[in-house]
Amino acid sequence: MENSELYLQRYLEIEKILNDFYQYFDYCLEKCIKPAIGINNGPVAVCCKDKYYKKYDLEDKAFDLLRDEREIRYGKPDQINDHSGVSPCEYHTSVGCALKTHKSPICLSFMCRKSIDNLRDRFNIFQYDYLGFNYALEWILTGDMTGIAYAEFKDSCLDMITKIKNPKKN
Ligand code: SF4
Ligand code: SF4
Repeated sequence: MENSELYLQRYLEIEKILNDFYQYFDYCLEKCIKPAIGINNGPVAVCCKDKYYKKYDLEDKAFDLLRDEREIRYGKPDQINDHSGVSPCEYHTSVGCALKTHKSPICLSFMCRKSIDNLRDRFNIFQYDYLGFNYALEWILTGDMTGIAYAEFKDSCLDMITKIKNPKKN
């Protein structure tokens, strides 16, 4: 396996864990997205206000692989039929982001101040710092994160799920 393939594999493993995390952390859906849909009576962009799937991507082989695999699975940006019309991002459809996997680091890591505060207040989860997560995801893809650091980062992500599933034990 080429290094870039290994880095992408690690990245997708973290993406899966973060997607699991969002199964339990409902703040975005319940407190932001649903109320905004109610007010607008239709699709809402919330924080997807740019073409973030490519805006901050780096010139790097694993980033290229990520984009290639994304386009095979979900189509190229100009092939998305159900564009919401409320976000400049072509992957933003009438029911939200078309990318269930293979998001870019910025899309995967972004949490606004309000959602991070909620994570802290409700679940005592303090390890989520949006820029720190963004850089960590970039380093996983570029290979700048060592295997040991990757294992620690992965444990830290799994720990967030444990905490959010067992709030009384915090
Ligand atoms: S990160 Fe913030 S703005 Fe984006 S969906 Fe969640 S609560 Fe809303
Ligand atoms: S790719 Fe998805 S998460 Fe990223 S900006 Fe577009 S709709 Fe939002």
